[in-house]
Amino acid sequence: MWTHYPELLRRPVPRYTSYPTAADFDESVGEDQFRAALDEVAPGTPVSLYVHIPFCEEICWYCGCNTARSNRRSRLEAYLDALHEEIAMVAEHLGGRGQVARIAFGGGSPNAIEPLDFVRLLGDIMVAFHAENPLLSIEIDPRHVSAGWLNVLRAARVRYASMGVQSFDPKVQAAIGRVQPWHHIESLTGSLREAGVQSLNFDLMYGLPHQDRAVLMETLERTIDLSPDRVALFGYAHVPHLIARQRRIDASALPDEKERFEMAEMGHDYLVAHGYQPVGFDHFARPGDPLAIAAQEHRLHRNFQGFTDDSAGHLIGLGASAISQFPGLYAQNAKNAGVYRTAVAAGRFPVERGIVRSAASRRCGALISDILCHGDGALPDDLSPAQTERLEEFEQRGLIRIDAGRIRLDPDALPYARTIAAIFDPLMVHKIGGFSAPV
Ligand code: SF4
Repeated sequence: MWTHYPELLRRPVPRYTSYPTAADFDESVGEDQFRAALDEVAPGTPVSLYVHIPFCEEICWYCGCNTARSNRRSRLEAYLDALHEEIAMVAEHLGGRGQVARIAFGGGSPNAIEPLDFVRLLGDIMVAFHAENPLLSIEIDPRHVSAGWLNVLRAARVRYASMGVQSFDPKVQAAIGRVQPWHHIESLTGSLREAGVQSLNFDLMYGLPHQDRAVLMETLERTIDLSPDRVALFGYAHVPHLIARQRRIDASALPDEKERFEMAEMGHDYLVAHGYQPVGFDHFARPGDPLAIAAQEHRLHRNFQGFTDDSAGHLIGLGASAISQFPGLYAQNAKNAGVYRTAVAAGRFPVERGIVRSAASRRCGALISDILCHGDGALPDDLSPAQTERLEEFEQRGLIRIDAGRIRLDPDALPYARTIAAIFDPLMVHKIGGFSAPV
């Protein structure tokens, strides 16, 4: 049973899909560093690709993604032209080095583009990078999956798919600008399975307007009825000062922190009781799913797509705002689609920001990842008095054990995992300074 310690949860912490996080990126990294990182890719090195489609047919009010409405065909075409151009530039620079084993399409909603455009895009990537039978995954907006898209998913042998469900409650759906009845998701789940999708993920949310434990429970029950292979249960972060579209959400209808905590615990317990294995701090997978197996075998990783069984140390991001990860560098493409297109049209890699991964930051990142993925890690030798004091707060409450130079999280410490990981993030000091100094 989880115990609620509000004093430990007061401090906002990153989700740590990378370390250093994207909030630490700056403009000291540009196309020169990106080019040098590509130069260091050795022949045969496993490389994963991430392709970003920053468009959706409808924009959900809660969404924090870099996306815009796909209502103008000319805008989509211009973006896709630039994407094809960037693919050619990166592949040419790699010159056949690197073995592309995985390609992930995300956004936005990749299914905001036409199925035929997706076929062209995938074909272009496969040829340009000499990819042979890569594992394909895709994020899907379930409101807009046409028969043509299902045919393409089948023909392309897309094996992993993830769809945003969030809540099955009609009142909650109306309050977040995302209406998609249960029977629609039921029908689509069957269609995706028929199309050959082997691992299907549902994204769910707690902490939404008009949501309480009973409302979430109904969504969980209806989720179990459809038996997705994976479930991700995220907490909604209401930050309308940062994400303007969230201003449409009625803040007075949001549950408080204690209710959120109870919902997260209930969701965790319910999914585990129904045969799902916890993966990291907010993912769940059926025991035979590759993600669950990776968690059991201590092969879980954390990258920009969340928890993953992908062990490739080189991830190349293609498209506006996409982030590339190399052993010594993070590099992010221009977020603005117009800026991205202009850079590519000028023959430049569209990298705008990033950070060099020093040996020290890689060590921090490895420990943070170990804590989040495995609930355990080797403590550094040079803990500061402040870090020791923070660890004691968790140790005294039985949330962690420190033994033989290692930190181990109690299974009931899951809601505190990110906060515990943040103790080892030296850049948090600057973030806290920034947040707490109004003048
Ligand atoms: S479909 Fe997904 S990416 Fe698009 S606006 Fe909604 S939540 Fe955001």
